[in-house]
Amino acid sequence: MYADATHLLKNLRNCLLSWGKLFLSDDVVSREGLVTGEVTVDAFIRVIQFQENKELKIAHRLDWKCVRVKGFEKMRVKPAQSLLSRDVAGAIRLLVSQGLSPQSDLASAFFADQVGSWYTLMTGRREFDSFTKNYPDQLQDKVSFLKVFQGLIDSLKFEGSQEKKPFQKGILISTSSLIFDVDRFLNHLGYTYFQGGRTTTEGCENIFSTARSGNPNPSPRQLRGAFKAIALSQLVRNAKSGNYNDDDHVPFLSALTDALQHSEGNEEGDEDLVPTEGDVVIDFFDANSLVYLSGYILRKTVRSKRHYCQSCISHLVISHEDLPQPTDDVSKSLLQLLGIKDMGRLTKPSDLGQDLFLTLEGVFRQFQPNISKGEAHIGKKLTSKCLTVLSEKFSNLSLTCHSSLLVARFVKIRCFFWGRFLNAQIQKDPSHQTLVASESNSSRSVKRAVVFK
Ligand SMILES: [Zn+2]
Repeated sequence: MYADATHLLKNLRNCLLSWGKLFLSDDVVSREGLVTGEVTVDAFIRVIQFQENKELKIAHRLDWKCVRVKGFEKMRVKPAQSLLSRDVAGAIRLLVSQGLSPQSDLASAFFADQVGSWYTLMTGRREFDSFTKNYPDQLQDKVSFLKVFQGLIDSLKFEGSQEKKPFQKGILISTSSLIFDVDRFLNHLGYTYFQGGRTTTEGCENIFSTARSGNPNPSPRQLRGAFKAIALSQLVRNAKSGNYNDDDHVPFLSALTDALQHSEGNEEGDEDLVPTEGDVVIDFFDANSLVYLSGYILRKTVRSKRHYCQSCISHLVISHEDLPQPTDDVSKSLLQLLGIKDMGRLTKPSDLGQDLFLTLEGVFRQFQPNISKGEAHIGKKLTSKCLTVLSEKFSNLSLTCHSSLLVARFVKIRCFFWGRFLNAQIQKDPSHQTLVASESNSSRSVKRAVVFK
């Protein structure tokens, strides 16, 4: 019997937000070596405040919407998923390691980490987050984790309340059921793998919220028509709206497409870009975030099935043996954020790879003011500018095979971050809202187009 994991996650999040804090049991505190058992919303807010005015975020899905949830927003899964995630746990730990957050925040980081890992297993649909006989050690670890997590949830305490919350009971039931099913399918029914994601109602909820997005109250006939349309549209492109996530969604892809649309202007313009005066400074956190992002771009590019390139990997990616040793001083390392968030699957850029992306960021910042002035063909111009600088700086290296694809992807994502940052600034400053209203027909894409016209 399963209580739906996505609903449990939302309930847990609502509980944390309304109480402001939860308490881990003393056993957990001493086992994990924490200074306190207090899991507080403030720890998350410190990360939001820290990165609010940054374009390169250390937890790129975390914003105020994750902690200020009102009305129907409570139904949306994404903010809950973004808040209680391993990604945010990494960001809190980075701030603590740099002395910008108190040590006590590590309890919140630990909690977010655990809930994020649990949710990944409960809803997993990929090889690494499903239960498979092919990797017996990992299978054992996952099942043990689930058992320990049950203990963690069971022993949670709330200020002035002894009673168990419904989400606690739900998590205990669902997790026990999953452990039971994993054993049943793998050891008794002869299956080689079992995916937690098949036990949620997400797929069902997703199709209903998509079907009702046009008409919230359809007749049976209209619903049948909507299902037909959805079946067809699945072959074209995934729906963006809806409270529930797509089956095997890759959130960055739509972001990339958006950035591409807006970075390729429609107007003609051949004027060269004008760099700004003065030096470009990239601080420690921006550099860490950038190196994390560059690992993502490298994985999607030279390590993807389609573009797999041994030559680029050997130059730009750290092999397992070259990883920094625990004895090295990592507190100043640009790989620190990546190291904190890593569970052994992230792609780590080599020194050359880091240097390359820091150079790209430098070029981007140098020409950034041109973007807000509405420069046409900004994506193409930036890409060619970056490539020129790279070929000058790294002339001794043959970076020809995948450098243009890497640079083009960097520019697209970077333009998207810049656009997102500007949009956030516009929303904060009411004087800009009339500008947006007058230049748009209220569709989201057009609002964004104000930035990249
Ligand atoms: Zn290559």
